Amino acid sequence: MSQDTIFSKIINREIPADIIYEDEQALAFKDINPQAPFHVLIIPKQPIATINDITPQDAPLIGHLYVVAATLAKQQGFSEKGYRVVMNCNEDGGQTVYHIHLHMLAGKQMGWPPY
Ligand code: 5GP
Repeated sequence: MSQDTIFSKIINREIPADIIYEDEQALAFKDINPQAPFHVLIIPKQPIATINDITPQDAPLIGHLYVVAATLAKQQGFSEKGYRVVMNCNEDGGQTVYHIHLHMLAGKQMGWPPY
């Protein structure tokens, strides 16, 4: 599966995105079709297609994505009230872009189950 997705183009600034966070390993930008008042995608700059492709060597990078989520929650004032972080995998999981990403959703009461 090609690793050149729309998210690579966002990382490379080939297409615009509302980027709210960046460091050496990760990027966070607003989802183009938000499902909550605050909906950002937190992605590794290194392209990994799905959760199935994560290796033990990637563990620090995956952990870092959650550190970014916690940082954004604090910055945006969602830490106390709460938020949801989710990663979809393949068709049944609802994945449409094959470059792993954490969805971070906040600003409303989330439902469960999530379908
Ligand atoms: P998935 O369905 O793979 O879990 O999530 C992909 C997400 O990427 C969707 O929520 C979709 O709205 C978002 N998305 C797709 N294309 C673009 C784009 O070009 N820009 C931005 N900012 N978000 C996108």
